[in-house]
Amino acid sequence: LGSSVEVEGAEIDEDPDEDDLLGGLKIDTTAELEIPDRLVDQVIGQEHARDVIIKAAKQRRHVMMIGSPGTGKSMLAKAMSELLPKEELQDVLVYHNPDDGNKPKVRTVPAGKGDQIVDAHREEARKRNQMRSLLMWIIIAVVLGYALIIVGQILVGIIAAGVVYLVFRYLNRGSDAMIPNLLVNNGDTKTAPFRDATGAHAGALLGDVRHDPFQSGGMETPSHDRVEAGAIHKANKGVLFIDEINTLDIRSQQHLMTAIQEGEFSITGQSERSSGAMVQTEPVPTDFVMIAAGNLDAMENMHPALRSRIKGYGYEVYMEDTIEDTPEMRRKYVRFIAQEVAKDGRLPEFTAEAVEEVILEAKRRSGRKGHLTLLFRNLGGLVRVAGDIARGEDADLTTRDHVLQAKGRSRSIEQQLADDFIERRKDYELQVSDGYVVGRVNGLAVMGEDSGIMLPVMAEVAPSQGPGEVIATGQLKEMAQESVSNVSAIIKKFSDENISEMDIHIQFVQAGQQGVDGDSASITVATAVISALEDVGVDQSLAMTGSLSVRGDVLPVGGVTHKIEAAAKAGCTRVIIPQANEQDVMIEDEYEDMIEVIPVSHISEVLDIALEGEAEKDSLVSRLKSITGSALKEGGVS
Ligand code: ADP
Repeated sequence: LGSSVEVEGAEIDEDPDEDDLLGGLKIDTTAELEIPDRLVDQVIGQEHARDVIIKAAKQRRHVMMIGSPGTGKSMLAKAMSELLPKEELQDVLVYHNPDDGNKPKVRTVPAGKGDQIVDAHREEARKRNQMRSLLMWIIIAVVLGYALIIVGQILVGIIAAGVVYLVFRYLNRGSDAMIPNLLVNNGDTKTAPFRDATGAHAGALLGDVRHDPFQSGGMETPSHDRVEAGAIHKANKGVLFIDEINTLDIRSQQHLMTAIQEGEFSITGQSERSSGAMVQTEPVPTDFVMIAAGNLDAMENMHPALRSRIKGYGYEVYMEDTIEDTPEMRRKYVRFIAQEVAKDGRLPEFTAEAVEEVILEAKRRSGRKGHLTLLFRNLGGLVRVAGDIARGEDADLTTRDHVLQAKGRSRSIEQQLADDFIERRKDYELQVSDGYVVGRVNGLAVMGEDSGIMLPVMAEVAPSQGPGEVIATGQLKEMAQESVSNVSAIIKKFSDENISEMDIHIQFVQAGQQGVDGDSASITVATAVISALEDVGVDQSLAMTGSLSVRGDVLPVGGVTHKIEAAAKAGCTRVIIPQANEQDVMIEDEYEDMIEVIPVSHISEVLDIALEGEAEKDSLVSRLKSITGSALKEGGVS
């Protein structure tokens, strides 16, 4: 169970070097790799979810998958349909009910038989029609002949022939009604059905009966012919996949539950005032395995009974976002690129160097030391853009250069926004990246998931009328106040006598951005405030990020790589990061020469680097060390 297929088709060095991004694979291009036949073997990472799917396929259990988009939920659901037995597949036919035209009858037959039955009925109807029209033409000939020769009245003959024609048309009317409607056809199906009902409206999910504009008078389409199957019926004996399950309206969730419980569900018209709503078929089988998916809050908005149904009769799995970076994993990522190239069918194969660049990106995107990202849809996007660029150049292979170009093009919206923002701020000279300024520090924040932005913090200290206050302005007020309260212990101790009579104003300059997350600004705020209190300038060619403990330790933060790149883009030449984040740094080569990364573990080091003027600085730093020194001795970085 769950043993994953290794990479095949290429020679492997069993004990590869740590910086061998291909994990010991000896290949020139991705063309040399074999791709596993079964979809379930193509799934990379998600070991737990994979095991569950294989188990659930054997036992025909429902599964709930929770996790980020693009981690392989629908891929696994599809893989499950390949694992279900094909022998049990059925065709479903709907017949006219002579006793009640609004209650069509339903029959199930083994897969492939449905087509034959419909063909047989068609053939019979065709023969019957042939016989009838032969008879009709004979009678018309006799009538015409009689009128012409015996009576000598041509007009009477034509009228009589017309009457005969209409009588036959009327008699023929019902003959098509005898042909059944092949509702579900599994005749050509190679595996058990897989139906993706994500975002389906009620009719597409539960089946529908079309409206008939001619409801009487011999012109109407018989009701059984207007019946349409829903995803729940087409998924019979297979897999029904519904992503974003919480967005399904409650009524549909209830009906879905009924279908799961009963294993069958009648089809009726979904729009209430149409003629279809009068029609209701006999129950149609809905014996499917459901895979419901969504992100974490999907579970909260899901119908509780439906959730407990899955819980009680199936499995729940959580999809991982990152995976540990090992040589074996790297080899699988190489195979991932080969898979995506094969799936697309038009992309040139990747060279080994191009593959390395993609794997480097997978490391970077994980945002975690020693991990690779499992957000494969996005990574696949990068592969496709790179391949498209290569194809546009008529290149035989996709090279490292194509991947580098693709990285620039496949920037996320947040990244594009951040870049745009930086450009605009440069125009207005809001960005300062040289000289010394009192009370102003270049902070860094992450926007969205994958882009950094430089966010200057300004502090001003003024004598207070009443008791001293910390006043934060700008749109990131809450965040500022939180940062301040985190560092206030240090600041208070630092300037013991006069702070109680001072108002400290803190402003996040131009933070007019939504979705800027900045819990990591506390060393920035502390530095700005100390600079303002002591009237010592701060180096503006420096940017910084880091969280601060009440004892002065600089604690790790998220998104350092993106933040460093943002600082470089904004023109800074040095950047301070927490020591504990040192291994998370995976900046691209182009930035490496632009900016010096300085890891620190204590706020005194930050001041030492950031502040201007040797003498004042030294006294400040030693003062800080003395008030937080005990913390330093107790233990380093947390
Ligand atoms: P989800 O349903 O979780 O949003 P999908 O299954 O639709 O994600 O993934 C989109 C595409 O990304 C897949 O078709 C596949 O090419 C690739 N992919 C996603 N997850 C994986 C994975 N774990 N292993 C290999 N490829 C993956």
